[in-house]
Amino acid sequence: MQQTVSILGATGSIGQSTLAVLRQYSNQYTVTALTAQNNWEKLAQIAQEFTPKYVAIGNKKHAKDLENALSGTSVKVAAGEEALLEAATMPCDTLMLSVVGIAGLKPALAAAQSGQRILLANKESLVCGGPFLMDIAQQNGAQIIPVDSEHNAILQIYDQPQNITEVTLTASGGPFLDWPKEKIARAKPAQAVAHPNWSMGAKISVDSATLMNKGLELIEAARFFPQAQNNLSVLIHPQSIIHGMVTFKDGTTKAVLSPPNMQNPIAVALGWPNERFKLDLPPLDLATIGKLTFKEPDVSAFPCLQLAQNALKAGLGACITLNTYNEIAVADFLAEKIPFYGIAKKVEAALTKYGQQKIDSVDDIFALNQEIQGD
Ligand code: NAD
Ligand code: MG
Repeated sequence: MQQTVSILGATGSIGQSTLAVLRQYSNQYTVTALTAQNNWEKLAQIAQEFTPKYVAIGNKKHAKDLENALSGTSVKVAAGEEALLEAATMPCDTLMLSVVGIAGLKPALAAAQSGQRILLANKESLVCGGPFLMDIAQQNGAQIIPVDSEHNAILQIYDQPQNITEVTLTASGGPFLDWPKEKIARAKPAQAVAHPNWSMGAKISVDSATLMNKGLELIEAARFFPQAQNNLSVLIHPQSIIHGMVTFKDGTTKAVLSPPNMQNPIAVALGWPNERFKLDLPPLDLATIGKLTFKEPDVSAFPCLQLAQNALKAGLGACITLNTYNEIAVADFLAEKIPFYGIAKKVEAALTKYGQQKIDSVDDIFALNQEIQGD
């Protein structure tokens, strides 16, 4: 039977990988809605290929251009934040949420409220709104399936949670893994976004270089696997072949291995829990890879990981502060306004200032976010 899929953030790296999977199964899937924030040209191009019912562009400035590009097609075009939320709640079988940043939280909440089956790539929404998002999903029968490769891996091996003693997220270590601290301190944006294994959007690439990405993922793991929240660990694994591991009390460890390509976890999430898709990708060839290596993360060279660990312990106010200030600091670093270690410094200062705030509602999340933005 034909299934319908919507993609929020269709023009980004995860959006494109999702479309690459759907392209291989075009007889099985049709597209309902597609969104993007600014890149109307790419959105129009994708819409022409996949002929969704609805496309929405967040930035209203581009509404006319998008409309013109799609005139004469059956695609309905809309613009603005309301239009993005409309796309999030339109009935479909599966919604891919691949917007970047806390901008993903409102659509995630709206989709959960509507009982959607959500493939969640947007980790920031879980970091900032996890407990509320999970509650709303549960109350409305919405399913939230992790797309992030580590969490997607753990999902596949998370049996008998009561017997699990450790859940391990692997980290490539990013482009500066073996650099001395003095050299990391002088790193430029172009060096930070040149990830050795993964091709990703700019923000997550910088987060991978600071290891903030792994810190956000620890918080994400605590939301997805709450029973394991006190047993989470990070292991540096530069080849990015093992994505996640769970260890049971009898000493057995299960791991999930796949080539570092996001099509793989996307396809697993799409078919979860009963279906597997064959992908047009070379299979894992361990003999050619030869060697898998591991080491402990160095939090003195990558302080963002420690800041995230502290925030997870401190509570939701600290997690929102960590995420919001990180988004601001990463944008500043990309614009060459602050040096690489300025990111950790800014986040640390913000945590001291705002990290204690109590969060009792979804409104409190957005209020704290606004307060920090206006700082
Ligand atoms: P990206 O920058 O390549 O794409 C982001 C998408 O979100 C674009 O389509 C953009 O138009 C849209 N967008 C940007 N700002 C928006 C806003 N304010 N409102 C609505 N839409 C907006 O990012 P990406 O690398 O695809 O990452 C997307 C999410 O997936 C992030 O949360 C990231 O942490 C997560 N993720 C990415 C990867 C990866 O390999 N790229 C892996 C795991 C998790
Ligand atoms: Mg990841």
